[in-house]
Amino acid sequence: MQCKQWVILAAALMTTWVSHSALASDEVVVYSARNEQLIKPLFDAYTKESGVEVKFITGKAGSLLQRLKAEGDNTPADLLITVDAGNLWQAANMGLLQPVSSAKLSEAIPAHLRDPDNQWYGLSVRARTIVYNTNKLNDSDLSTYEDLADPKWKGKLCLRTAKKVYNQSLVAMMIAEHGESQTEAIVKGWVANLATKPFSSDTKMMEAVAAGQCEVGIGNTYYFGRLEDKDPTIPLKLFWPNQQSSGVHVNISGGGVTKYASNVNGATALLEWLASDKAQNLFSDSNHEYPANAQIKPSAQVTAWGSFKGNQVNVAKAGELQVDAVKLMDRARYK
Ligand code: FE
Repeated sequence: MQCKQWVILAAALMTTWVSHSALASDEVVVYSARNEQLIKPLFDAYTKESGVEVKFITGKAGSLLQRLKAEGDNTPADLLITVDAGNLWQAANMGLLQPVSSAKLSEAIPAHLRDPDNQWYGLSVRARTIVYNTNKLNDSDLSTYEDLADPKWKGKLCLRTAKKVYNQSLVAMMIAEHGESQTEAIVKGWVANLATKPFSSDTKMMEAVAAGQCEVGIGNTYYFGRLEDKDPTIPLKLFWPNQQSSGVHVNISGGGVTKYASNVNGATALLEWLASDKAQNLFSDSNHEYPANAQIKPSAQVTAWGSFKGNQVNVAKAGELQVDAVKLMDRARYK
């Protein structure tokens, strides 16, 4: 090759490199287990404010983790957003995330709603609480998750399947509190009290409670919110259990910067923005969730459900004890 041709080639390569790096330093690529309807308005608002483009794909948490793992250091993803501390813990445990220290994030997000090693941060809170049929029960009939194992509830309890990570996280947090044998006795009590086999979704479970197929169940608050939107007179009410003890089981949706992010600064800035005053209501209100940032009030509808003491144990426990929880539920024949 002639010298001149080398120069042209080098110049061409240089241009490609410069334009690629300029792009990479701006754009943030997100893998999101939260749906497009929820995240697109947020990313649009962020782009409008910062000028930074956000590209995203959505998918199920499990497939996104597998995809990140398979792509390794070739991944285009800078940020992972998903639901449930169990999933976020799993992502960190699989080596798919990296620690990010940010004064903004540690100030905005309470310590029990973020990874002790800073690999993920909660962005919204969902309470997994008791829901009951108002034609059959009052607040005074209810007290704790543990009490639902009492034989007085025989044939009156509805639950969602043990396969759902939400229930695995709930049981994992109970193991953290009570230990294995006591938790197993509680879960066996629940199974003995079931009115019918576990449901595939919180919505179906709550509809069964409303229809009187059972009197009481355990579900995430935002599913109640959706049913309330459809039918404000639905005979369902949320109850806040364990107020004299551990508090209501809370979980998060959240995010973390990927291990092989090419735009760590951009991903961190987006995460900080999502945790900020400006974005927290956008993030939580559209799915009837609670802002993770304790300074921010939930929507009027969510506020109307009343305030409660939430469990203060770090939600990372839900991940650490997830395998134990799955085994325990299997032993208890909770399907
Ligand atoms: Fe959900």
